[in-house]
Amino acid sequence: MNGRMQVELPRQVKRIIETLERQGFEAYAVGGCVRDSLLGRVPQDWDITTSATPAQVKALFERTVDTGIRHGTVTVLMERAGYEVTTYRIDGEYEDARHPKEVWFAGTLTEDLKRRDFTINAMAYNERCGIVDAFDGMGDLERGVVRCVGNSEERFAEDALRMLRAVRFAAQLGFSVDRRTGEAMERLSGNLAKVSAERIQAELVKLLTSEHPGRIRLAYEKGLTRVFLPEFDRMMETPQNNPHHCYTVGEHTIHAVEGVPADRVLRLAMLLHDVAKPACRTTDEKGVDHFFGHQELGAKQAQEILRRLKFDNDTTERVCRLVRWHDDNPEPTERGIRRAIHHIGTEQYPALFAVKRADAMAQSGYRRGEKLAYIDAYEAQYETIMEQKQCLSVRELAVNGSDLIAAGMRPGREIGVALQRLLNEVLEDPAKNRKEQLLALAAAFREKNES
Ligand code: ATP
Ligand code: MG
Repeated sequence: MNGRMQVELPRQVKRIIETLERQGFEAYAVGGCVRDSLLGRVPQDWDITTSATPAQVKALFERTVDTGIRHGTVTVLMERAGYEVTTYRIDGEYEDARHPKEVWFAGTLTEDLKRRDFTINAMAYNERCGIVDAFDGMGDLERGVVRCVGNSEERFAEDALRMLRAVRFAAQLGFSVDRRTGEAMERLSGNLAKVSAERIQAELVKLLTSEHPGRIRLAYEKGLTRVFLPEFDRMMETPQNNPHHCYTVGEHTIHAVEGVPADRVLRLAMLLHDVAKPACRTTDEKGVDHFFGHQELGAKQAQEILRRLKFDNDTTERVCRLVRWHDDNPEPTERGIRRAIHHIGTEQYPALFAVKRADAMAQSGYRRGEKLAYIDAYEAQYETIMEQKQCLSVRELAVNGSDLIAAGMRPGREIGVALQRLLNEVLEDPAKNRKEQLLALAAAFREKNES
């Protein structure tokens, strides 16, 4: 890292700090924004730490929101952005809710930095004092190491989520985890069971959508996935003796995760696409492994896992559908693909192509060229079908239920059956999607039925 790297405070942050300082308080930008600035990355948001109490902060700014009064946090609104201003916090008993609202025992900056998780997250900055770095966070940034502030075991015992956060920061920054910090993770990994699913989910998503999602391997090695995603451990421990593969299910999964864009749904889909392989594995007489039915069972297991981790329904459904269809290979003719899109649902596209490509690329080189050419052909057919706005559902038919009733059909179940049959015809041949032709077809169906 460049030692001359500067922290460039945004105008609004400067104003907040100066306003507080003018009243005799201390104030600094702190945590992630300082770390990211020093790394030459664009900070996501700017947090400020101050000696002023929440009441004092509120008195100084026109527009504020009590975001986390209990934790001493007030959000100051300025030019359509919000800045979290938090009173210096002290560890332990001082933090709990027994303190009457608005009465704050502000500690010192050093005390506040000491209760932060990692050295790289425990630096503060303002223009008066420059960088305040009490735990050699700069050194760790240079070395590319995630290291606890103070005694790792104590810090992980206080809050077990920090173990997963260590992996998350390693993944976001491409860092490794300090040896002692890593050893403490191995010893205390079981404590993660006490952490809420919501907090685990947030860190897992940040880990997966980072630049180095492969760091999830570290979470496995340190015993963390065993606690919140034991299915991953089973994948890591399942071999694939099959010419298409050169990795265990778990290593294949890691490569597949790395092979899709950093999108939440795509990364989760790759993480779980082969989750049922351990349960579906059979070995034939030649010693070759097969995984029959792993798509269907995988979609089911993925749903259980995502529910358990408290993911929302929309995410869960999208991920599960991609898992369900990741290995579906329709006949690459326009007709075959049209039927597949109807069957699988347009919502799964074009994400499904990214999934299929990453899956193929994470397999052995065996027939890779063929596999990729097939996916290209599949996608090209898909694009043609979509460009031509071909009919893929009952809704898009040139006739609807009322048309059939007007033509003399009895209202009721019969109508739905007829529409489905018409769709079948149109999926065979899109040219048939014209009103007169469909009405004639429907009449023909009826005659056949009645005779
Ligand atoms: P991001 O870019 O994801 O926002 P960040 O470093 O800002 O990264 P946050 O989770 O927003 O991470 O937390 C802000 C700061 O608060 C951290 O930099 C760290 O100093 C402190 N912090 C957050 N969570 C913990 C925790 N569980 N234990 C100790 N300190 C924490
Ligand atoms: Mg943050």
